[in-house]
Amino acid sequence: MTADDTGASAEPLTAIFRRLIGTYGPLSLLHYMGESNARYYADKDPLGTAGDFITAPEISQMFGELVGLWLADVWMRAGSPVPVHYVELGPGRGTLARDALRTMKRVGLDPQVHFVESSRALKALQAQAVPQAQWHDDLGTVPTDVPLLVVGNEFLDALPVRQLVRTAKGWRERMVDWAEDRFRPVAGEKPMDAAVPGVLADAEEGTLLETCPGAAAVMQELSGRLASQGGAALLIDYGYAEPQTGSTLQALRAHAKVDPFTAPGEADLTCLVDFAVLAEIAVKEGATWQGTVTQGAFLRALGIDLRAAKLAAAAPHHADTIQRAKDRLISDEQMGSLFKVMGVSGPQWPQGAGF
Ligand code: SAH
Repeated sequence: MTADDTGASAEPLTAIFRRLIGTYGPLSLLHYMGESNARYYADKDPLGTAGDFITAPEISQMFGELVGLWLADVWMRAGSPVPVHYVELGPGRGTLARDALRTMKRVGLDPQVHFVESSRALKALQAQAVPQAQWHDDLGTVPTDVPLLVVGNEFLDALPVRQLVRTAKGWRERMVDWAEDRFRPVAGEKPMDAAVPGVLADAEEGTLLETCPGAAAVMQELSGRLASQGGAALLIDYGYAEPQTGSTLQALRAHAKVDPFTAPGEADLTCLVDFAVLAEIAVKEGATWQGTVTQGAFLRALGIDLRAAKLAAAAPHHADTIQRAKDRLISDEQMGSLFKVMGVSGPQWPQGAGF
């Protein structure tokens, strides 16, 4: 990604996009979303009530603790190999890592910590939460010779998507144009039929196919690493486990959905993660796909009810807050069903709990 990392003092992204469109014509949605999110994340902390959205580890410490428990359990059943490295993709404020590492340490698992992070602002917060971490721009520089315990929560959904749309003239890429004083999606000129699976060749006009090349690339590299180095990964995100069509692009600002084509770089652009395609990639790279389950089912299997009861017993005046946080994480009406947890591991590693 060609991140414009000069931050808020830089030329507004709207002006840059307008100039590009004026010179070269409509931009691909992939480019628009990639640049917008690079700008969005570069210099601010978008998490929490004062920000734009809230994530599971920020809702309750139980989330990171249970993720840590899952990793510790597979690690022990793999024979407790040492050294082992903890790798987190897009660690946000470092909260998940801090909670997971604390839990892992209780059972004697004390891995080296690697964070894959692009945001300057968030790196600074991560350094406060987990001072011993080492930072990377991507997985490429993470050591290649030891087993990896990998976590990514709400990382893949921030990576840019490409959209193809079926028009009367065939499949076209969805582009972003500037017209009548605003950005708007339009169908590109170039035929894209060759990029679409055969079953969709004659799909109804208006059918939309979304793919995320960045997520596919991360999955490919990660799976190859797990296959050759050993280890296990949990990828957690809102997404779908069966293939589907339609646009899932959305923009969040101050906890409300806003138009993704207004004020690029100032709202968080996300898409649902296609877990079906990620599982295929994992298997193709020689890793074991352990399964994709709902967040609610996963956290229940890991013992969230017991953990919540224990926390509430230790702090009775917080019992209501703990109960509400638990509901938020696991109830079907909140994060429980929409969010999925995918487990992937090296072929010699044991099946983890909850899959
Ligand atoms: N996992 C955290 C934060 C989720 S927000 C949590 O659950 O709270 C998305 C995270 O991914 C942020 O840390 C963001 O800076 C990072 N990120 C987004 N795009 C990235 C990219 N292309 N490369 C590296 N990190 C990225």
